[in-house]
Amino acid sequence: MVRGNRFNPLQLFSFWSYSKAAHALGCTLHCFFADFLRIPKPLHPESALGQACHHDFSQFMTLHYTKKSPRGKYYYESLDAHRNRFIGFFTGAVKGEHPFDSYRHRTVQVAWCSPQESQKLLERGIYTVERFHWEFVELRRQGVWLTEVPFRFSWFDGLTLRGKIDLICLEPSGSTLIDFKPHQPSDKILRHGHQMTVYQLAVQQCLGHRNPKAKPPVKGRRRPIVPPVTRLRYYSYRGNGWSEAPVRGTDDIRELRQLLRALSGFYQTVLLAKVPVHRHLERYRFFKHDDLLTGDITPPPAGEQCTFCPYVDECDRTVAGQRPTARADFMDRYPKIRELLAGDPRAEDKIRMVLSDLPYAEFLGQTRIDPKPSIQIDLSL
Ligand code: SF4
Repeated sequence: MVRGNRFNPLQLFSFWSYSKAAHALGCTLHCFFADFLRIPKPLHPESALGQACHHDFSQFMTLHYTKKSPRGKYYYESLDAHRNRFIGFFTGAVKGEHPFDSYRHRTVQVAWCSPQESQKLLERGIYTVERFHWEFVELRRQGVWLTEVPFRFSWFDGLTLRGKIDLICLEPSGSTLIDFKPHQPSDKILRHGHQMTVYQLAVQQCLGHRNPKAKPPVKGRRRPIVPPVTRLRYYSYRGNGWSEAPVRGTDDIRELRQLLRALSGFYQTVLLAKVPVHRHLERYRFFKHDDLLTGDITPPPAGEQCTFCPYVDECDRTVAGQRPTARADFMDRYPKIRELLAGDPRAEDKIRMVLSDLPYAEFLGQTRIDPKPSIQIDLSL
């Protein structure tokens, strides 16, 4: 929970998603700006198109329940209807009537390079949607589909994983998880990419069980229990279509666990001055170990990861020594953490409590703190 009054900055260390881990793997400084400081930036035009396509695919594969169709109905039976709907949606988003990923919520700014760019992207989007239509129009009648399935579960040492699975096909023999990608994933990603490991784990840990507290996707209807995963697939909508990924084994899950432990430990050490556990960090050479001591994050050499990075200005100023250290920056952004660390001899214990998912009120020290169970909790990240 990272919004509104219940936002707890310490959960930034224990709440992880695949995309946040991917940011950190690409560049630890980018992840700091995007996911810890959460500096807002205009959306890249390619991301805007990607979001609009994802929204369109999800609407296409969803059974919509209305009073006239209590048993559910698919939208856009004809290609014309589908294409027109996409054009209307994308044009509305460009005009700022709604965001690119839904008809609701706040609109976002897009960093358009030229006035013609949105038109070019719309043409590409129409082509993508047409291909998708022919690929999925028969398929959607042949199975039971769940779209944009959110998940969130507490995994280990107070670490919570969350995210959203693009598409799940439920079959009597098991479930197929599908992710939409603009391009064909590399062989390495297909075989051992963390994204599918996270999704498979989400089915094992939460989507495969009935959760009495979960809000139903449609009023009055329960979300079906997702059976064990038997197939993992990518659909690349600007590439060659389908790619198969092997079902993940215990080694992949162990690898993911070690990675998240190392990532969380790295940021806790740099930003909160927590004593590092070197055996968790030493496997990951992309961390600059000097950063652990200085409380700063040094950018890696410029590379592919910088192509679409929106934080180039912040990065340049970091390199030029014109920004405070990452730790000081983080404390300025979340002054409650600075107060806690400066004025409270039990700060370490309280931080451990919060990282182990206890209520924020206790972290702030405004209400009763029961020291016994909390002090026993050792995250040892
Ligand atoms: S410009 Fe490159 S090095 Fe700098 S923050 Fe972005 S991705 Fe990292």
